[in-house]
Amino acid sequence: MIRWSNSNISDIKSFRKLSNNNSIPVLGFGVFNLKERDEFDGALNCALDAGYRHFDTASIYGNEDMLGRAISESGVNRSEVFVTTKLWKSDFGYKATINALNNSLLRLDMDYVDLYLVHWPQKEKLAETWEAIEEIYTSGKAKAIGVCNFSIDYLKLLFRHCKIKPMINQIEHHPYLLQKELVGFCFDREIQVVAHSPLMWGRIVNDDTLKGISYEYKKSPAQIVLRWNLQKGIAVIPKSANRERIIENADIFDFHITESDMNKIDSLDKNLRVGGAPLSL
Ligand code: NDP
Repeated sequence: MIRWSNSNISDIKSFRKLSNNNSIPVLGFGVFNLKERDEFDGALNCALDAGYRHFDTASIYGNEDMLGRAISESGVNRSEVFVTTKLWKSDFGYKATINALNNSLLRLDMDYVDLYLVHWPQKEKLAETWEAIEEIYTSGKAKAIGVCNFSIDYLKLLFRHCKIKPMINQIEHHPYLLQKELVGFCFDREIQVVAHSPLMWGRIVNDDTLKGISYEYKKSPAQIVLRWNLQKGIAVIPKSANRERIIENADIFDFHITESDMNKIDSLDKNLRVGGAPLSL
């Protein structure tokens, strides 16, 4: 079973080494659904103050420009933040992918992203799309590359076409959706797993078992779930627009969940997802 030792996840600056030797901070801040400028800026500034340095956006979220501006106006150096954006399905194809990344960089007002991801699996034009992503990586416009929501079959299909393997697979992952086989497959191939929707859109905090565990640790159910991910070797990118919850979600580095409680949380798996189910091949 995969476990991170405490020393690897001791504070908010903790990171995970990727297969290309770059690092990804284990805690990130997701910005899906933050669309209003005031709300976006409030959340981003609060996240930066709380110490988050990893931000997850996508071209389809329509807020790359707000993210770029908020980071730039914060005074935090570009080199101190880890920025992810993603290629949407309608931009598949060699030239379209190159253009999409360039447009994302223009909106972000950045020279590079730290991570560029294929947002959703799609068989059509996958080979030429990945070829463009490899080109983007080689040119330095993306420091790392990867995919989202790829099943084992989709990863195997990609391996048949790629020269450079994805460094990340960002998937829905929380106590009701463990995807053990897929997570194991990724770890065996040095593909770092990042949990999107790690709080199941906020619904997971109502689980009675998690409430019981959280009472014992004097932590909230959300903090238990985020820490559980980290101890499993999985990075997390929770989203919140609320100041208290942004701070709460970052306060997960001062406790350790025992093996027995880790297993108790694992046993909640129901193969239940809140996001869309990736298409099978
Ligand atoms: P999350 O699981 O992060 O849940 C977000 C919801 O949980 C919000 O409604 C938020 O409400 C609530 N919440 C946040 N913190 C707490 C807390 N401590 N206690 C209780 N409720 C809380 O869902 P997301 O789908 O937003 O996933 C996170 C990020 O993952 C996205 O923002 C995006 O960057 C990425 N993502 C990627 C996908 C992909 O296909 N690659 C798909 C989906 C997401 P409030 O804001 O009011 O605090």
